[in-house]
Amino acid sequence: MERVADQTLQRYSASSSAKRNGRGVAVVWFRNDLRVLDNEALYKAWVSSQEVLAIYCVDPRIFGSTHYFGFPKTGALRAQFLIECLADLKKNLMKRGLNLLIQHGKPEEILPDLAKAFGAHTVYAQKETCSEELNVERLVSKGLQRVVLSSSSVQSSKPGSVNNPRLQLIWGTTMYHIDDLPFDTSSLPDVYTQFRKSVEAKCTVRGCIKIPASLGPPPHVEDWGCVPSLDQFGLQSSIVSKGMNFVGGESAALGRVHEYFWKKDLVKIYKHTRNGMLGPDYSTKFSPWLASGSLSPRFIYEEVKRYEKEREANDSTYWVLFELIWRDYFRFLSAKCGNSLFHLGGPRKVEHRWSQEKTLFESWRDGHTGYPLIDANMKELSTTGFMSNRGRQIVCSFLVRDMGIDWRMGAEWFETCLLDYDPCSNYGNWTYGAGVGNDPREDRYFSIPKQAQNYDRDGEYVAYWLPQLRSLPKDKRNFPGMAYIKPVVPLKFGNASSRHQNQDRGSAARRANFGGRQPQGQRR
Ligand code: FAD
Repeated sequence: MERVADQTLQRYSASSSAKRNGRGVAVVWFRNDLRVLDNEALYKAWVSSQEVLAIYCVDPRIFGSTHYFGFPKTGALRAQFLIECLADLKKNLMKRGLNLLIQHGKPEEILPDLAKAFGAHTVYAQKETCSEELNVERLVSKGLQRVVLSSSSVQSSKPGSVNNPRLQLIWGTTMYHIDDLPFDTSSLPDVYTQFRKSVEAKCTVRGCIKIPASLGPPPHVEDWGCVPSLDQFGLQSSIVSKGMNFVGGESAALGRVHEYFWKKDLVKIYKHTRNGMLGPDYSTKFSPWLASGSLSPRFIYEEVKRYEKEREANDSTYWVLFELIWRDYFRFLSAKCGNSLFHLGGPRKVEHRWSQEKTLFESWRDGHTGYPLIDANMKELSTTGFMSNRGRQIVCSFLVRDMGIDWRMGAEWFETCLLDYDPCSNYGNWTYGAGVGNDPREDRYFSIPKQAQNYDRDGEYVAYWLPQLRSLPKDKRNFPGMAYIKPVVPLKFGNASSRHQNQDRGSAARRANFGGRQPQGQRR
């Protein structure tokens, strides 16, 4: 892993003639961009300064509670993943002559003080799009405006002008750059296919930013701070003994890309395996690293292109990019929809009566619904912090359609647990699943019997997570009847014994569940 990461980072290093023409100190404030490769904020900080101060603020708000239902905002598994990301980032920065200052507190309190103490002219950071993150950006910017620097710290100070450090926000989360889109985010198409076709026809993916092999020196810092431990967040570690055991950080991310593309040649069959649920290799598993920014989507794009040139180009190699465009789409959609993504009625302000019944919700959350396919997926989520895309669609449909539970309870539980939690993809997918998303056509009912039949015919997946089912005949594992917990609710369309009659019933579910509009919900 270490060797692959070093080689890849070397391949993506700028030539020694890369120009640095700045003055003084620049701060790079790491957020969800915990990487060196293709990090434009880091590059700009280096170019514009003589010394780069790299900092991560451990913001107590990310360890608070979720907005409506008060679940832990970051569960122990994602906190552990974040800790590993920070340790790896620190190590990779040190290899390039920098270090990572780790401070506990709110960025809007830490950054202005640091900018003042170090006379930093600019704080570079990756731009975010959702309300909580935008609020922090606004507060940091305000805080910096109150800092007055001596004129020697600032690049081009005119006599008599007030010198404040600036916050410079840089776009960096998506494969397609926001500035290259053929439309404003305010007129983003409501239909994914229109978006995809348009960007594929009219945009190119920018090349990865190459970072110089040496970024030093950093300014003198007395105490760089330690990488935090779980108990500092009041969380307890749990050993992941089953399923995927993800390791946080850029080195592990680059290792996984290498393994998936080059060592195991899995990308050439991705389209045919991607709907699987069991094992490490049915899909890329890049999402936790993408969400923390330890992995750049543009780097994945370049690896797909290299693979297509050196080995094989087919519908599977393309499909990885197709899925990454979904990710881009939800990111841009969050800029268009604003807080409506988090509201009960979603971007379309759909009116519907939801239940918030605690016992039902808890049976879903804890994997005790009586439906093995739901229970196995929910156990995988709480044990590993991961669930396949197929599984997520099925458990979402079950919660909102069969149980009629407020979709935000499901979304917030995912927020707690997922290693790859990202507000745009999470709430974007949940609003689609709940039938309140911006595109009414994306509203589908997933029939459990049919899903089990198609994606877990031999019951291997459910038997893996619910070992008590392994002794049953394979065709009974998903339909165990009296041999398992009694189902907590009947299925809306058909039941386990009538599985051959079941189909996904999108339009029926829409007619049955959703009607007109409701007034604008509460802000997030
Ligand atoms: P692959 O199948 O290998 O896909 C490659 C990459 O494409 C993924 O890593 C991801 O970045 C992107 N991608 C694939 N499908 C989607 C999709 N539907 N939406 C957005 N991006 C996609 N993904 C997150 O990254 N964070 C979330 O918080 C999240 N919440 C979800 C909630 C629900 C209810 C649903 C149905 C899906 C959610 N997804 C989320 C999307 C998707 O399930 C995961 O991205 C995917 O399962 C991750 O596994 P992978 O990396 O092996 O994906």
